[in-house]
Amino acid sequence: MAEAVETLSNFVGGRWIPATATSFVDVHNPARGTVIARAPLSTSRDVELAVAAATGAFAGWSETPPVVRARAMFRFRALLEEHFEELARLVTTEHGKTLDESRGSVRRGIECVEVACGGPSMLMGYGLENVSHGIDCTVMRQPIGVCAAIAPFNFPAMVPLWFLPFAVVCGNTFVLKPSEQVPLSQARMFELLQQCDLPPGVVNLVHGGREVVEAICDHPGIRSVSFVGSTPVARLVYQRATHAGKRVQALGGAKNFVIVMPDADLDRSIPIISESFYGCAGERCLAGSVLVPVGEAHAPARDRLIEAAAALKVGDGLEPGVGMGPVISRPHHQRVVTYVERGVSEGARLALDGRETRVPDRPDGFFIGPSVFDEVNPAMAIGREEIFGPVASVCPVTDLDAAFRLMDAHPNANATSIFTSSGKAAREFSHRATASMVGVNIGVAAPMAYFPFGGARDSFFGDLKVHGRDAFEFYTDKKVTISRWF
Ligand code: NAD
Repeated sequence: MAEAVETLSNFVGGRWIPATATSFVDVHNPARGTVIARAPLSTSRDVELAVAAATGAFAGWSETPPVVRARAMFRFRALLEEHFEELARLVTTEHGKTLDESRGSVRRGIECVEVACGGPSMLMGYGLENVSHGIDCTVMRQPIGVCAAIAPFNFPAMVPLWFLPFAVVCGNTFVLKPSEQVPLSQARMFELLQQCDLPPGVVNLVHGGREVVEAICDHPGIRSVSFVGSTPVARLVYQRATHAGKRVQALGGAKNFVIVMPDADLDRSIPIISESFYGCAGERCLAGSVLVPVGEAHAPARDRLIEAAAALKVGDGLEPGVGMGPVISRPHHQRVVTYVERGVSEGARLALDGRETRVPDRPDGFFIGPSVFDEVNPAMAIGREEIFGPVASVCPVTDLDAAFRLMDAHPNANATSIFTSSGKAAREFSHRATASMVGVNIGVAAPMAYFPFGGARDSFFGDLKVHGRDAFEFYTDKKVTISRWF
C-alpha cells in the first residue's frame, strides 16, 4: 500500500527536510509492480531553499584549496566502494535492470569520482612571461557558482556522478534533481556524501518533476544546468536555461544504428549486438535500435539476432541467470506494446514477438520480452522514433553508403556501431559517422569517465560534453591577469 512506504525528503543545507510538495509520485519495484517509496513533487519554493543553501556555501567552498576539495571526493569514492553492492541492488530494485548491469553502472559512476579526484592537476592554469616588456600574463580557472543537474530514469546512480564530483571538486556548489521514478539510490548516495566532511549547502538534492526543472532553468542564482533525458525536454531545458543566461549542456534521446557488414565475425558479434539491443531492456541512450545488415549479412545477422533474443531469460534482475529485467513502469510497458502494434500495422514483419512474455513468479512486474521486426522501412514509427524498449528493427541496405544515408536522414545522432573485420570499412565508418559515440565491434560505445561523452544533432544541445576534460571546462571560468610591477 502506498501509505505504508517512506516519503522521501530533500537534502538542503546539510539536512534532510520535507518538501513543500502537495503531490507525490509512487516509486515502484518494476519487477514486482509494488510501491516502494513516494517521491515528493517539490515546488519552486524548495528550489529556492536549495539555491539559497548552495549560494551560502559557495564563498567558503570556492576558497577551499582544491586538494582539500579533492579529499572529500576521495572519501566519497571509498564510501561508494564500501557500499557498492548495496547501491547496485538498490539500482536494480528501483529500475529493474539486472544486477550485473547495475554493478557496471555503479562502477562507471565511481570512475567519474576517481577522475574528479585529479581536480588539482586538471584545474591548473597557465601563463606567459613578457607578453610585452616586463609584463606577464596568467590564466586561472575559477569555479562558476551554483550548478544544477537534472537526471533521467535509466541510470539512477551513474548519471548524477557524471556531474556532481566534477562540479564540487572545481569549487562549485550543487543542486541535483533525480528522476522522480528512481530517486532511491541517489538519496542513498547523498547519505554517503553526508559522511564526506562537505560543508552544509555544498551538495543539495531536490526531488520532483517539471516544476523543479522549470525553477532550476529560471532561477537567477543558478549558473549552469546539466540535463539528461529525452530530446523534447532536453531542447526545452536548453532553450529556457540559456535564455536565462546560464551555461547549459542538455543530453537528449537517441535512435542508434548498428551496421553489420558481410565480413563481420557473427560468432563473436551477435552476443554483443544482442546485449546492445536488449541489455537494460533497451532503456539505454546507447542501446542499439535499428540493425542495419549490409548486403548478404541480412539473413544470417537477422536470424542469429532472433535466436539470441529468444534465448534471453526475462525476469527479476535480482535473480541469478536473468538476462533481461522489466521496463521501468506500467505506462512505459504500454508504450512499448503500442510501438509493436504500430510496427505490425505499418507492415513490418514481426519475426519475434515479446508481448506475451510472462514471468510466473513475478506476475505483476512490468515485463515485455525481446521483439525483432524485419523489413523495417525508416519511415515507419518503429524505424524512426525512440522506443526505449527491447525492440529491434532490422533495416537491410545494399552497401555502406546506403547505411550512411539512413543514419544521416535521422535527426538523432547519439551513438552508432559497425561490426566488420575490415579496417578500411571501420576507419571510414568512424570518420564519416555523425554520431559522436562510435563503436567498432563494440555494441555500446559507453561513456568513459576520462573521455568526453555526449551525442550530436538532436541528441545533444550545448558545446561542452560531460566528464573527461570537458567537465573541468564546463565547471570553471577562466580569469586572465596581465601584470606589470614597477
Ligand atoms: P525525460 O525527458 O522524461 O525526463 C528526464 C528528466 O526531465 C526527469 O528528471 C524528469 O523529471 C524531467 N522532465 C520530464 N518531463 C519534463 C517536462 N515536460 N518539463 C520539465 N522537466 C521534465 O527522460 P526519461 O524518460 O527519464 O529518460 C529517458 C530518456 O533519456 C531517453 O530519451 C534517453 O535516450 C535519454 N537519455 C539520454 C542520455 C544521453 O546521454 N544522451 C542518457 C540517458 C538517457
